[in-house]
Amino acid sequence: MSDVPGTVVVAGAYVATVDTSGTEHPDGYVVVRGNRIVDVGAGPAPEIEGARVVDGRGCLLTPGLVNTHHHLYQWITRGLAADDNLFDWLTTLYPIWAGVDADAVRTAATGGLAWLAKHGCTTTTDHHYVVPRNGGDVFGAEIEAARTVGLRFHPSRGSMDLGRSRGGLPPDSVVERLDDILTGTQDVVDRWHDPSPDSMLRVAVAPCSPFSVTADLLTEAAALARSAGVRLHTHLAETVDEQDFCLDRFGCTPVQYLERLGWVGPDVWYAHAVHLDDVAITTLTGTGTGVAHCPTSNARLGAGIARARDLHAAGVPLGLGVDGAASNEACNMLEEARHAVLFARARGGPREMTVRTALELATIGGARVLGRDDELGSLEPGKLADLALWRIDTLAHSGITDPVAALALGATAPLELLLVNGRAVVERGRVITVNEDDVAAEVEQAHRALVRKAG
Ligand SMILES: [Zn+2]
Repeated sequence: MSDVPGTVVVAGAYVATVDTSGTEHPDGYVVVRGNRIVDVGAGPAPEIEGARVVDGRGCLLTPGLVNTHHHLYQWITRGLAADDNLFDWLTTLYPIWAGVDADAVRTAATGGLAWLAKHGCTTTTDHHYVVPRNGGDVFGAEIEAARTVGLRFHPSRGSMDLGRSRGGLPPDSVVERLDDILTGTQDVVDRWHDPSPDSMLRVAVAPCSPFSVTADLLTEAAALARSAGVRLHTHLAETVDEQDFCLDRFGCTPVQYLERLGWVGPDVWYAHAVHLDDVAITTLTGTGTGVAHCPTSNARLGAGIARARDLHAAGVPLGLGVDGAASNEACNMLEEARHAVLFARARGGPREMTVRTALELATIGGARVLGRDDELGSLEPGKLADLALWRIDTLAHSGITDPVAALALGATAPLELLLVNGRAVVERGRVITVNEDDVAAEVEQAHRALVRKAG
């Protein structure tokens, strides 16, 4: 088919709309015209002349998945420090990451984005916080990759300014000066941020974490983001080590520290938020601050299990994130949904999280974290045409009674079709916007070159 969005009818599928009523149509259809959903319903699909009709029998149709935390450049540094905790893992990886440049980031991002698409993700964030002085335009490079692969993209201009000599964790060689960060951040916002309703690209501002940035940077970054009308993002409350760092250095918990600096509100979302007390959850609830729950990465680094049920029950905007590929080699949003359910139950018992809540977190929950739940995250007329059609009639899933349980608890389902903004990005399990084999070879080369550079 042409990749120019036309009219697409998905017919005969089990449709899980993930609307506010949880409407599901066991034999339903969705009609897409251009980049929008125009009709969703039960029974036979309407006949529309000239439309592409996709046979959805044997398939589950869901909203496209929304990934609320990632570090795409890490796609070329997977499998390192495989058995370490966060601080040791970071200490191993910082010197390697110091060698990234625009070409490496373009290759890594193309690989990471293609892989996300192949597993049903239609919108992804990125948090890029390693910006070497002679590395070229790393943000332009990942944005180019997102346009090539065809995903809706929310990159954030990350940063670090607290090197080891000043009590931070990263070596001084990978941190930037505060003024350079602010100038560079404003530049990324001015060049790339698109606030329009159908936007394929929105920028956020994202100093890295309490142990790698100064309070001055956090304060100035918040002022910059608010004057530009963009969102704020950072890592927070990921590990006990980080909590100890904050108690020791600032005399308060990570959430109290950020609250003190103005880093709460409906325009802010944190990655991880694993170690929260009840006071912190009340703060997030009262301010509308969002959370990217990253269960796989938190488990890979032994950081802990976030209080996802409590956050969800309290009404905190809650989405899922794969986190960077260096702490989650799989980077598969369906695995995040599965792990969210399983870890919640392992932590708190069988009633902690339903499979439908997991699907909600992976779709409309993530859209809400990004402030886009009026346009993304559910299958409803008027919403943007981001949708995933999963095969559930193969050996992996046939005979599982409930299609949503099949998706959330079963093996990763093959993706029959992925539409992003009405455009096909994946067809019958293959990414069609790039050549997967070529990208894999380029990733291998970029990985070797980067590790060699670190010596
Ligand atoms: Zn992260």
